[in-house]
Amino acid sequence: MSGVTLLDSRAVGPFRQCPLCQSKDADPFLEGARDLEYGTGGEHLYVKCRGCSFVIMDPIPPFSEIVTFYPSDYHAYQEGDRGLARALKGLYSRMRAKQFSRLIGTTGHICEIGASDGEFLHHLQEVGDWQLSGVELDPEMVERARAKGLDIRHSTFEQAGYPAESFDLVVMSHLIEHVQDPVETMAETARTLKPGGYVVGETPNIASWDYKIFGRFWGGFHVPRHLYLFSGETLRRLLDKAGFEEIRLIHAVQPSHWAIGVQNFLRGRNPSPSRLEGGRAFYFPLLLLAFLPIQIVQSLLGASSIIGFEARKSGTGP
Ligand SMILES: [Zn+2]
Repeated sequence: MSGVTLLDSRAVGPFRQCPLCQSKDADPFLEGARDLEYGTGGEHLYVKCRGCSFVIMDPIPPFSEIVTFYPSDYHAYQEGDRGLARALKGLYSRMRAKQFSRLIGTTGHICEIGASDGEFLHHLQEVGDWQLSGVELDPEMVERARAKGLDIRHSTFEQAGYPAESFDLVVMSHLIEHVQDPVETMAETARTLKPGGYVVGETPNIASWDYKIFGRFWGGFHVPRHLYLFSGETLRRLLDKAGFEEIRLIHAVQPSHWAIGVQNFLRGRNPSPSRLEGGRAFYFPLLLLAFLPIQIVQSLLGASSIIGFEARKSGTGP
């Protein structure tokens, strides 16, 4: 992580107080959780807040430990997707671009937190006239994104130093569950948005059917990379706390937690499963297809694996 000063947030350490409801009481929720995808070491504990049911890793690790959770073959760092994965990513980008146009029109300044290699922003470049920025922690991903001509800061969002009211829209896809202090990240998002600007993102839904079925093997834990697990209720609380209004939750179709759940279940019976290259078994794409129909039903009934969200910062629109 050369070139980035990583300061630990206030949230580091054992559970003292729920960041959402300030309750000082939590119960063990998942003990002895292991990384069944990439085999990073150690066992982890999650606790559940008694006040608001927020699920939190306990303790929240320091940055020096968090960086060891992301091996070089981490799936979000892979390039050169082909076939189904490439088609799905293309479809995802087009759907998002449509959503952004609906919210802010086809001009304005968009920032992506956790921009990875800039592939998503690159897609947006092709469909709108937006000014695009992003932050990313992995130096190799920053290089790859900059090679696409993108304006990417090698930093955490909180330390990137953007002036207040910089952006019309901030996008965070599968990000808020990874950060040390989601309350701080959402507050910084609100600070850097113009009045009337939007935050858009998505995160795993612990109130989903797939969590109920897979329990400790649920793909949404992504142990130990997910430090916080949200439900629609706790997500609303987070957005509300940061001062957002017109909060809208969207139940997306995304079968990967089912597929990872099956993979984790099969591997979790082995006390020391072999390391998986790229975190995914060879049968993974077949599982994705197999679980697509049930995800469509879940999405229609508002209990899907992933919750998308959009919310508006108060004030007159840009
Ligand atoms: Zn709480």
